[in-house]
Amino acid sequence: MSAGNPSPVFEVVIGLEVHAEIATRTKMFCGCAVLDTTQAEPNAAVCPICAGMPGTLPVVNQRAVELGLRVALALGCSIPSYSVFARKNYFYPDLPKGYQISQYRYPLARQGVLLIPTEAGERPIRVRRVHLEEDTGKLTHVQENAVAYSLVDLNRAGVPLLEIVSEPDLRTAAEARAYGEALRRILQYLAVNSGDMQKGVLRFEANVSLRPQGTEALGTRTEIKNLNSFRALERAINYEIQRQSELLARGEAVLQQTLGWDEARQVTVPQRGKEEEDDYRYFPEPDLPPLVIAPEWLEQIRAGLPELPVARRQRFGEQYQLTAYDAEVLTAEAAVADYYEAVVNAAPSVAPKQIANWITGELFGLLNQAGGRFDELKIEPVQFADLLVRIEKGQISAAMGKTVLAEMFATGTAAAEIISARGLQQISDDAQLAAVVRQVLADHPDELAAYLGGKDGLLNWFFGQVMRATRGQANPAVVRQVLADELAAWKTSAGENNRA
Ligand code: ADP
Ligand code: MG
Ligand code: ZN
Repeated sequence: MSAGNPSPVFEVVIGLEVHAEIATRTKMFCGCAVLDTTQAEPNAAVCPICAGMPGTLPVVNQRAVELGLRVALALGCSIPSYSVFARKNYFYPDLPKGYQISQYRYPLARQGVLLIPTEAGERPIRVRRVHLEEDTGKLTHVQENAVAYSLVDLNRAGVPLLEIVSEPDLRTAAEARAYGEALRRILQYLAVNSGDMQKGVLRFEANVSLRPQGTEALGTRTEIKNLNSFRALERAINYEIQRQSELLARGEAVLQQTLGWDEARQVTVPQRGKEEEDDYRYFPEPDLPPLVIAPEWLEQIRAGLPELPVARRQRFGEQYQLTAYDAEVLTAEAAVADYYEAVVNAAPSVAPKQIANWITGELFGLLNQAGGRFDELKIEPVQFADLLVRIEKGQISAAMGKTVLAEMFATGTAAAEIISARGLQQISDDAQLAAVVRQVLADHPDELAAYLGGKDGLLNWFFGQVMRATRGQANPAVVRQVLADELAAWKTSAGENNRA
């Protein structure tokens, strides 16, 4: 290569391993309760099995298998008639048995696909495998003055875990994020995982390598462990792409390494070198028989699958005449989509598009302002529907409706109660509004004269005065009509006077 040659252009290759806790009541191989590990008293749910006592035997949690199969089916995986649990041996203080029960050669499911949105449209990312395993405990490292020690909490030890491994099909950090988000959404839709990343129920590992553009062979990868937020996922990958590009541009090699992400310094840091390459000595778990999936059971699970995010988004767009944006926002979370549909069903006289506007605009605005979470919302869908129906019927104005909604949001009080307690009913009575209009005109003789002299623009000004006089409670359509009638009468009489 001559010195003038440009350095080769590299292509980024990313594969993701996702660990998702399975939301069961009890652990994977024992009857211990699955607790919220961020809330519970440490070691509140531990028994001889999940504490790894000798002589105990694991029993598979059927519900965990069922939920794992839901995910596998939703990802379009092929599901073999049986899978095999295997021991993954390593020692760590949060792993009381000295091995983790996982699946290795024979996973629960293989060869699925996950569609991710990209700028160029939807792109399929292949899923290599989905397997069942158990979570580890949690260590807390304490440094008190000169004394350092570690605390072990086994509440999480043995919690069912699903590992979902992609093929190295992702090409950018943004795509990796989109994959993570799409998967999180599916897990939430299937009620397999809350998606609450702050609680650590969903964790990512990113494998990143570069290869010369146009070549097939994979480059040497690094693996970034324990990424607990989409932001960390995206930033760690971008950092790694940059770091590897610089190495390769200098003609140096990338070392195959396990890395951690240092959130404070925003850099990846080596955790284990190649010379300590994992040697887990997997072997089939002797205490568990192969996991046989009865075809009838699988079909039953398939039949019970809910509508998935992509399908629901498309249906929302068509059925409710929503923009792509609205359909996307409303189906991002199953809870929001359910809420929207409940309001639509309870308010058949209100246009679904209108309801979408109220939810994505007003309601989300209130949630954002309050820093609240959707699942803590105090407004029942039927109450929301009732408010929108009242607006639609003209009982209250849209502006008043916003005020009422804010109060419903804060207190959970029903719309009817707020409207009557605060006297917010809209005034639609012709005679009542005609009296207000006449009063406004009488109070502003100069403006009236100017209007009659040809300053048509004053019509809107009069309208504003009437709305103000009624503190916004007047029905705007009725006001416009009454105002037009009154002013027309004035014009007629002004014309007669001129002729006289
Ligand atoms: P493990 O990390 O347990 O050794 P695998 O070798 O099966 O498991 O790979 C795990 C993940 O790394 C998969 O998502 C796979 O797509 C991805 N991967 C494997 N090789 C590469 C590579 N050279 N570059 C990027 N990703 C890779
Ligand atoms: Mg790995
Ligand atoms: Zn237990």
